[in-house]
Amino acid sequence: MSAHGIPTPMSRLRLTGLTRAELTDLMIQWGEKPYRAQQLWSWVFVKLADSVEAMTDLSKPFRVRLAEEIAPLRPRAISHRVSADGTEKWLLACDDETVMETVFIPETNRGTVCVSSQVGCSLACPFCRTGTLPLKRNLTAAEIVEQVTFVRATMAERGVRVTNVVLMGMGEPLYNLEAVTRAVQIIKDGNGLAIGCRKLTISTSGVVSRMAEAGRNLDINLAISLHSVRDAVRDQLVPINKKFNLAALRQAALAWPLRGRGRVTWEYVLLDGINDAPEDARELVLWLRGIPSKVNLLGFNPWPGAPYSPSSRDTILRFQEIVANAGIVTIIRDSRGADVGAACGQLAGDADSDDRKYS
Ligand code: SF4
Repeated sequence: MSAHGIPTPMSRLRLTGLTRAELTDLMIQWGEKPYRAQQLWSWVFVKLADSVEAMTDLSKPFRVRLAEEIAPLRPRAISHRVSADGTEKWLLACDDETVMETVFIPETNRGTVCVSSQVGCSLACPFCRTGTLPLKRNLTAAEIVEQVTFVRATMAERGVRVTNVVLMGMGEPLYNLEAVTRAVQIIKDGNGLAIGCRKLTISTSGVVSRMAEAGRNLDINLAISLHSVRDAVRDQLVPINKKFNLAALRQAALAWPLRGRGRVTWEYVLLDGINDAPEDARELVLWLRGIPSKVNLLGFNPWPGAPYSPSSRDTILRFQEIVANAGIVTIIRDSRGADVGAACGQLAGDADSDDRKYS
C-alpha cells in the first residue's frame, strides 16, 4: 500500500486512507457515477460501517466488487482494557500484524481519542516507556484514521461522543508528517468524521525542522513536550534537544499559526530533583514570555527500570502556583488510565504495560 492509500499489487485498497476527492476520482476510474463516492464516504465515515455487507443501498454487483478490492475497514482489536477512571486502551492489529495502541479518554464535556502515528519511537526520551522500544515503522494515513473510526464506532454503540483527537500516542508524528497530514485532512472533512481544527492537536517532542511545514499544512492545535527550559537538562530528557535546542524550539513555536485565542500547549512532566524546583518554574515563566501558552503539568508514574521518581504533590502544587501567578494557564493533568497502561508515557504496545508516555 502506498502512503496515499492506493493499492499496490501486494495489498488491497484502503478506503480509509483516501480523501473525498480521491474517492470520487476512484469511482470515476471504476466507471461508477460520482454520487457513488458520496454514498461510500458516508458509509465509511458517517455511518461507520465495518463491512461492505452493511452498505445495503449499494447495488449487489458494486458490493461484490468492493468486497473483492478493498481491505477491511476496521483494525482488529487484540486487547482492550478499561481503567477505573473510565479511560480505555486498545491494541489494534494492522494487516501485517503490527500492533498500534489507541486510547479513549472520557471527560465531562468531551471524549478524546489519543492516536499513535508510529509503532515504537526513534527518539528514546528516557522517562517514556515508548522510547524504550525501537521504531518499528510509520503508520499509514489509513491506519491513523482507522484508530479514530474504530473508537468512534465503538463509542457510538454506547451513545458516547468522540469529540477530540490528539496525535499523542506512540511515536513522533512529525517524523511521519506525510501520512499524518493526509490523516488529518480526512479526519477534519466536514462531511465525514468532521472533527474540526480546534478539536485536533498534534504533539511533538520538538522536531523544529518540520514544524513550519506542519503548521502550514495541518492547521490544528500544537502541543510540545518541553519538560525543561535549560538546554543541559532538556538534552537529557528529550534528546532531540541536542539537535534542535530551546532557542530554535521557541522560534518554531512562535511561528506556529494559532487561531484566534489559541495557545501552544506545553507538556511538562515533573521529575523529582530534576526539573521541579521553584527556580525551574520561574525560568519557565521567563522562557514562555511572548508566546500564547498553556502549561500542562504531568505527574510521573515510575515504571520498572525508570530512571526517575515522581515529584511530591506539594512540589507540583508549588510549581503550578508560580507559573499560574505569572498569568499562564497551568493545569495539573491527573494521570488518566495509569492502571491499564494507557496514561501518557505508558504506551509500549503490550497488553500488560503499566508504564507511561508523555509526548
Ligand atoms: S516522549 Fe514521545 S518522542 Fe519521546 S520517546 Fe516517547 S513517544 Fe518518542
